[in-house]
Amino acid sequence: MYDVIVIGAGPAGMTAALYASRSNLKVLLLERGAPGGQMNNTAEVENYPGFESIMGPELSQKMFDSVEKFGTENAYGIVQDIKDLGTHKEVITEDQTFEAKTVVIATGCNHRKLGVPGEEEYAGRGVSYCAVCDGAFFRNKRLIVVGGGDSAVEEAIYLTNFAAEVVVVHRRDQLRAQKIIQDRAFANEKMSFIWDSVVEEIHGNDMAVTGVQIKNLKTGEVTEEAAGGIFIYVGLEPLTEPFINSGITNPAGWVETDTEMKTSIPGVFAIGDVRNKDLRQITTAVGEGGIAGQQVYKYIEENA
Ligand code: FAD
Ligand code: NAP
Repeated sequence: MYDVIVIGAGPAGMTAALYASRSNLKVLLLERGAPGGQMNNTAEVENYPGFESIMGPELSQKMFDSVEKFGTENAYGIVQDIKDLGTHKEVITEDQTFEAKTVVIATGCNHRKLGVPGEEEYAGRGVSYCAVCDGAFFRNKRLIVVGGGDSAVEEAIYLTNFAAEVVVVHRRDQLRAQKIIQDRAFANEKMSFIWDSVVEEIHGNDMAVTGVQIKNLKTGEVTEEAAGGIFIYVGLEPLTEPFINSGITNPAGWVETDTEMKTSIPGVFAIGDVRNKDLRQITTAVGEGGIAGQQVYKYIEENA
């Protein structure tokens, strides 16, 4: 029986595990991939205090090293369900059942798909959701990036390290991205913008993407843009499928908590991007991880 099982080893889950382990609790950190979560898909992080600039995967490793130092147990597992049995909880993966007094959900979220013809067909053949993972395959190509948020604009800037040209297609005439990121994009000579427009179809040959069909939402004009690749950053959807029947999610699927990271199930906490909140950042994920680690300790003391 663990004191706490933390599901997801992104910055939120790793911090919760660190705080709980440091309080001498028996902690299991369950993860379905490499520790680090979305940080592994981020080129440069320059808004995490203490580091002027650090590569996402390097920050992931540093956080994981800190967690290991305090004795957290790690296991691979894709969590499929959690059960509240009153006295304790069960966390069920594809091939194992673990028991714990408390559970911390830190599963984060996924990239939303565009849902247009060609997107699935050319996935991995020119359609990508991760500039850090795939950018280097697109040297000297003309690339399309879809979206106007922090992810789209920041990753478009990163892609200019490889590409000949990066064209951002955004459905409005103003970016959602932070001002500092916008300023950098507008100053980048390799970048241009197609405003008020959406990608309707992704085209290609037998091998790879060759272009996209774009519609201007104001004029209705439809044009074809040549492209060697398309990177899609149109927002996020919560990774809460395993918890959807437990009554802790809102209609959009995000987990609702109070300011102490408590869900509506006693002893079940949620932290990081998976929560219904405004600011999805490494700093906020880490802060919530600290709060949950402390709250788990209090819950166990009060219910012992
Ligand atoms: P995540 O980092 O998403 O981690 C969740 C973990 O849970 C993952 O490792 C996942 O594999 C695991 N998991 C999910 N489901 C299961 C399951 N069923 N079973 C087991 N494990 C599971 N923020 C910044 O502060 N600065 C930046 O520069 C920055 N750049 C970004 C760039 C991009 C392209 C993106 C997409 C995001 C960026 N962010 C940035 C946001 C930041 O990465 C997130 O806010 C942060 O990673 C959230 O942490 P988390 O721990 O809540 O979730
Ligand atoms: P986001 O902020 O939700 O932005 C999504 C963008 O995609 C928006 O510009 C949106 O347009 C557009 N969009 C949504 N659906 C679309 C569709 N069907 N077709 C075309 N365009 C569509 O998502 P994000 O950029 O991935 O950011 C997610 C979170 O991570 C945010 O909280 C962000 O701050 C954080 N993040 C932070 C950093 C950083 O701090 N450096 C970097 C990356 C991400 P509208 O603008 O018209 O809605």
